[in-house]
Order: sequence, then C-alpha cells, then structure tokens
Amino acid sequence: MSVTVRFAPSPTGYLHVGNARVALVNWLFARHMQGKFILRIDDTDRARSKPEYDEAIREDLTWLGLAWDDLQRQSDRDARYHAAMATLKAAGRLYPAYETPEELDTARKMRLARKLPPVYGRGALALTDADRAKLEAEGRKPHWRFKLEDAKVAWTDLAHGPAGFETKHLSDPVLVREDGALLYTLTSVVDDIDMGVTHVIRGDDHMTNTAVQIQLFDALGGKVPTFAHLPLMTGAKGEGLSKREGALSLRDLRAEGIEPMAVNSLLAALGTSDAVAMHKSLDELAAAFDWAKFGRASPKFDKVDLDRLNAQFIHAMPFAEAKAHVNVAMDEPFWLAVRGNLTKPSDAAEWWSVCREPLAPVVQDGDGDFLKAAAESLPEAIDTETWPVWTKALAAATERKGKALFQPLRLALTGREHGPEMKNLLPLIGPARAKARLLGKTA
Ligand code: GLU
Repeated sequence: MSVTVRFAPSPTGYLHVGNARVALVNWLFARHMQGKFILRIDDTDRARSKPEYDEAIREDLTWLGLAWDDLQRQSDRDARYHAAMATLKAAGRLYPAYETPEELDTARKMRLARKLPPVYGRGALALTDADRAKLEAEGRKPHWRFKLEDAKVAWTDLAHGPAGFETKHLSDPVLVREDGALLYTLTSVVDDIDMGVTHVIRGDDHMTNTAVQIQLFDALGGKVPTFAHLPLMTGAKGEGLSKREGALSLRDLRAEGIEPMAVNSLLAALGTSDAVAMHKSLDELAAAFDWAKFGRASPKFDKVDLDRLNAQFIHAMPFAEAKAHVNVAMDEPFWLAVRGNLTKPSDAAEWWSVCREPLAPVVQDGDGDFLKAAAESLPEAIDTETWPVWTKALAAATERKGKALFQPLRLALTGREHGPEMKNLLPLIGPARAKARLLGKTA
C-alpha cells in the first residue's frame, strides 16, 4: 500500500521539540514505507499566521533533515474549501447559526443546571426562513455548523489502539465563522482527501477532532485515513510545551550548538520502547521504525538527555565534519585533542585561541617557584608523550603531587581550571609559548 502523510503546523510560532517529534514520526514512517511526506502549512488563521514563521518552519525542518516531497498552503486552497461547503450544504450537513458567544454561554450553563451534556442545543436547526431573515435584518451574520450524525464513531488508532466517541457528547462543530473564516476542522479534511493522505499522525490533543472529522470524511465522500495520535510530550517536570512561549524551540537548540541528529535520535526514542541512543542518520532511524514500539504514556523531554547525546556526537565527530561547524582555521590534531571535551562544536574556537593566541597565564600565590622549575625542565621538543614524563620528573623534584602538581600547570598554560587533557594540549601550545606562560608572561 502506498503511504502519504502530512505534517501540518500552523505558522503562528516557532516549532518546538514537541512539534518536531510529530514531524519526525510522520517522516520516519513515510520513509520506512517508501511513501510521501507532505508539508502542509495550516495558515487558515489569517490574523495569527505570519510569513516569518512559515519560513522558520521550513528552515527548522531542513535543519533536522526532514525534507518534504510536497509543500502545500491552506491559504492557496480557498476554492476547494468553498466547494466542500457547497457539498455539505446541499446534503443538509452545514447549517447557519446566529447565537452570540454570550447566548451560547448562557445556554450552556442552563443545560448544565438541568444536568444535560453542555453541548450545542441545535436551536438554529429550528429556525424558519422568516426567523433567519429577521435575524439577518437585525445585522446578525451566521456562523456555520456541521450537523453530526448521532453515532458512536470508532477507529483503530495506531498509537492508542481502539478509540471512539459518542457524538451525542459533542457539539456540532463550527466550520465557518461569521466573518467567513474557514476553520481547521473542515480545511484539514478537505486537504487530506484531496492530497490522498492515507495516515494522519498527530498529537492526541486532536482525538475529539478525529471523531468529528471521520464524519466529515464520510459526508464529503472521502476515504477515512488511518489515525495515529501520539501522546503529547511534556517537559521534564510534566509541564506542557507551548510553542508560543518559545520553550525548547528548534532555533534555540540550533543556536546553542545542538546537533540535529542528537535531536532526531532523542525524539525517535521518546515514547517508544527503544532506549535513547545515538544514531548517525535518519535512514537508520527510518529502517527501525515500528508502530509496535509506541507506548501510551506521555513522553518527557529532558534537556539533560539531549545535552548528553549531543556531547556523544561531538566526541565521535570526525574532523571533516567538524570543519563545517567550527568557524576557526583548526587542524586535525587540534580537533582530535579537544573534541572529547566539548559540549558544542563552537566551543572549539575557545580552545583554538588558548593554544594559538596570546593568553595571560594564571599564577596563584606560592606557585611561582614551582612554575619556574617547570619552565626550566620543559623539553625543547614536545609531543603527546611529553606531559606524563615531564610531570613525573617535576613531582619527584618538587615533592608536589595530585592537584598541587597539576592545577598550577593547567592554570598557567591555559588560564583555566578545566579543559581537555593536558597531554594533548601541550604539544598544541608548543614549547616557546608554554615556557613563557609558565614564567608568568602573556604569550
Ligand atoms: N494545524 C494543526 C495543528 O498544528 C494540525 C493538526 C493535524 O495534524 O491535523 O495542531
């Protein structure tokens, strides 16, 4: 069976890791099935949709490596939505309603008081042509509701298992607002039909929409797709991930020096029975994709896990790849010496400057004589074998050991308390610069 999926973000904010997970699962499933991945920009909300978010979404997905086979925008498809409205009206499934939000609220409270489900009471269905003409003469404009059929709508969800809703617990949804604005419930179904979407994979906050949308697929003569509702991911403490707060946005992670495959590797494992592990490519993840691994619990996104994976990536990153990330003219011995100590590739620039540019050494009180002795015994030629031999001789000559031996050397040579292994840094600093720094001179 050929598979078509879509990732359908609204361009009303930056993508966060929760959105990225939905995109990734869609993409991996499509690739696994050799199917098609559509990027659909859900920009029906004209007031809140912004071109800069539309662009940012494409940029962020490209950064993750989630290439799309087709790009669609709802704002280009008004004619299709109006055709669908006409079909629904002709079938008596789309009807005008005139209540104001206040009237709806009062009606809702009255139903609750009478212990009735707080759904729309369908008052508008009882209006005669004359009633409607009168309301419109008063200046009221209709919004349009989809008339649900009284039924139990059931489906087998790839992520949730058997799922269903009794429509009597749902209000007839508004598909078109009084200002003519088309709402997602309708536009999404029209698109899914027109674009031949076979699998709708999205967050489980859309489960109720699904019940309504299944009836819409039927009413519009479309084939109902298979659904997979992923339990919504939360932050480490179970808090919601809101894209509007910019929490854990992909762009922030990118700016911080996080590697896209670290994000992909973590997101592919979360909510599944797979252990979090580093994967080199999306193809590797796509090959291993399996709905059977997905669980029902809300996965938690912990930034600590991402940082750990990211560090693993960098520690194993070959020089050729690192060059593309690091904005300094570093060489391979340098990269291999420092990579094990970096949490983001751009930190390499700092160590390059420590090794190759003048630096004021840090000499603490009482260490001057020791460092002088160290300078005098430093060999002329330095390689990675130098450090252990030199510091062993220094220990014997000065009776210093442990921190008292090593820390003053590191502070003088690098100006820092921590960093990559000194045995690797020393040859990069070189004998002349090292000697000068040990003698307290900026070099
Ligand atoms: N624009 C909707 C959202 O961002 C799409 C949901 C769907 O995939 O149908 O929630």
